[in-house]
Amino acid sequence: MANKPRVGIFDFTGCEGCELNQLNFEDQLLDILEHVEIVEWREAMDGRSEELDIAFVEGALSTPDCIKRIHEIRRKTKVLVALGACAVQGGINALKNIRPIEQVREEVYGQDKYLFPTLPALPLSAVVKVDVNVRGCPMTQLEFLKVFTALVMGKAPIEPGNSVCTECKLKDNECVYEKGMICLGPVTRAGCDAQCPTFGQYCTGCRGLVPEPNVEAMQEILVAHGLSMDDARKKLQLFNANQLEGVS
Ligand code: SF4
Ligand code: SF4
Repeated sequence: MANKPRVGIFDFTGCEGCELNQLNFEDQLLDILEHVEIVEWREAMDGRSEELDIAFVEGALSTPDCIKRIHEIRRKTKVLVALGACAVQGGINALKNIRPIEQVREEVYGQDKYLFPTLPALPLSAVVKVDVNVRGCPMTQLEFLKVFTALVMGKAPIEPGNSVCTECKLKDNECVYEKGMICLGPVTRAGCDAQCPTFGQYCTGCRGLVPEPNVEAMQEILVAHGLSMDDARKKLQLFNANQLEGVS
């Protein structure tokens, strides 16, 4: 294929599970490499590039260096894709934002609490323009491939705005509330094919909140099913601390 899109893959604060998921594309990796040229990827190769068609970026921004690097990536990239809950919402990292930063520093580093610079954990979109989100913790290979294919074909990927419950109902799953569990499906953005309820687990909200979520009603439902108001809030904060505080 002539003039293959030049691709870079980057990571910030996170467990790198989304990147590992990319490395595990055993069946599709050769096809992927046939359609793009990967020119920058710290986890898998040496080398840097000054111009990219597509950047896939994992992780939240949580240090001054992260902020500097994401601006550099944005400047040299045509299409910037946020990969996974940390990049899209701040993810679990954002739990640090709801506590005093001094307390967080002390709990993590003890007497060395000023050894490393730290900032509130932010989604990429709080600092630079993000063109496409691939949600989930970790993102699924299937969704990555859908987005990848659309981008290589020059099309805009479609991001679902409905809730996990709608996908769950389409799969004819028995609602886990009927089994005495709780679930964040009503306020969580679809796209995973209701993966957790399908396998008998509850949705923890890893794909982020739907547009205009009714958080109050969700909290009331959780409380009606036995959680304290505090625990209900904590359940919602697990992947959505930033969104609940109005950080997008
Ligand atoms: S199991 Fe969860 S996602 Fe499925 S219908 Fe019930 S609340 Fe919604
Ligand atoms: S069901 Fe919920 S927690 Fe499970 S993958 Fe989907 S959005 Fe994430």
